[in-house]
Amino acid sequence: MLRTRFAPSPTGFMHIGNLRSALFGYLLARSSGGTFILRIEDTDQARYTDGAVDKIYETLAAAGIVCDEGPHIGGDFVPYVQSERKEKYLICAKELIDRGKAYYCVCPKAEEGEEIVCDCKNKDISTPEGSFVIRHRVPEGSTTFNDLVFGDITVENSEIEDMVLIKSDGMPTYNFANVVDDHFMEITHITRGSEFLASTPKHKLLYQAFGWDVPIYCHLPLILSPDGGKLSKRKGDAYFDDFVKKGFLPQALVNFIALLGFAPPNNPDNREIFTLDELIKVFDVKGLNKSPATFDLQKLKWMNGEYIKALPMDEFLALSAKHTGKPAVFAAMTKERIHTFDEIPAMLDFVDNLSDYDVSLFENKKNKIDTATAKETLAKLLSVIENLHVQDFTIEKLKQTLSDFATEHSLKTAQVLMPLRVALSGKETSPAGATELLAAFGKDESINRIKTALSKLLCRACSGF
Ligand code: GLU
Repeated sequence: MLRTRFAPSPTGFMHIGNLRSALFGYLLARSSGGTFILRIEDTDQARYTDGAVDKIYETLAAAGIVCDEGPHIGGDFVPYVQSERKEKYLICAKELIDRGKAYYCVCPKAEEGEEIVCDCKNKDISTPEGSFVIRHRVPEGSTTFNDLVFGDITVENSEIEDMVLIKSDGMPTYNFANVVDDHFMEITHITRGSEFLASTPKHKLLYQAFGWDVPIYCHLPLILSPDGGKLSKRKGDAYFDDFVKKGFLPQALVNFIALLGFAPPNNPDNREIFTLDELIKVFDVKGLNKSPATFDLQKLKWMNGEYIKALPMDEFLALSAKHTGKPAVFAAMTKERIHTFDEIPAMLDFVDNLSDYDVSLFENKKNKIDTATAKETLAKLLSVIENLHVQDFTIEKLKQTLSDFATEHSLKTAQVLMPLRVALSGKETSPAGATELLAAFGKDESINRIKTALSKLLCRACSGF
């Protein structure tokens, strides 16, 4: 049975690349009836960040990614948090020492990542005194591993250092704990970012040292910022949360991330909108691409707009209230037009404050409207609107009133609606037409705005233009 895992280190917020690793592990498991596991890789205590584990749970939940095994699932029959499995790693490292595949190193400050210039390798210390680390004894030769996306990769072992497996504080290194856990958790497929390709030969050597089966590797291509660099906090494109704060929907982000470096092999219509369930159906490792994927923000915005349009109105209004606090009656006007929720305030800026707009906005050659005709129409409309009852301010009734008005004065509908729309919004473009604006503002505010328009138009008239 296929088993995949997401193995984040709780060092901060959820990076887009991390979420992508989780998503592909999840898609691979779900598309083949396998199991998806969450494991918290927290052995690097120095980089541990408070709240980061909760952030991982929250992000997976928001993305709709459900784990079958992991902390807090199924009564915790296996600890899925590495720091809780400390003894296990030490036992495994000692097993490698017994087999001659690892050794104690007692050199001062011989910590992970440091160049080794010691000869502990040749000393075969059996009971170290004082501080020590345990290092892997890398054999001679070369190491080849196969990756489903990147193919065969070969590295000369002389380029691989005798890496530390157990640190002087007794904690395993990331590389060691990662391999031990993948083995004992019976992980069959490893999906992770291609930045881990470089560590994979070291991992494979460890599997061989133990005599364990090597899992199938599936490294995912790099994700590049539109400018070609890495996604970064500074550019604001690195973290899932930053996008959610900006008004992107988790479902749209998941859809977008799934198509970074992946295209469904059978997709004759070039479809791009897929729910998570649909992604599971179309997922196939054959659709993974090894060239770097560019994070195309315009595409993400378009996709988010499509998800916003598809939201039921009540959900849309609840989200818009959270993001903008604008009244629902106006927020509803933006649903079909926005790409992200943070576009709403600018689109509705006319609601609280009518700008000091220029009367040239009333001019429209195509519909033969100039400031004089606009003034005339608005003046007549004002008296009609003043005579309406408050209960007449529904879209249906207003539509009828405005169309009757146009007929009565031999005007085209546009010649009525355009000046009215400008008077109500004070803008060249507004998220809704005159009828909707009239209904949303109601009688008093509509009258105020038409009066303001008339006084502006009057000024223009008396100054002789
Ligand atoms: N803990 C590693 C990370 O944070 C996991 C790497 C892997 O998936 O093997 O990215």
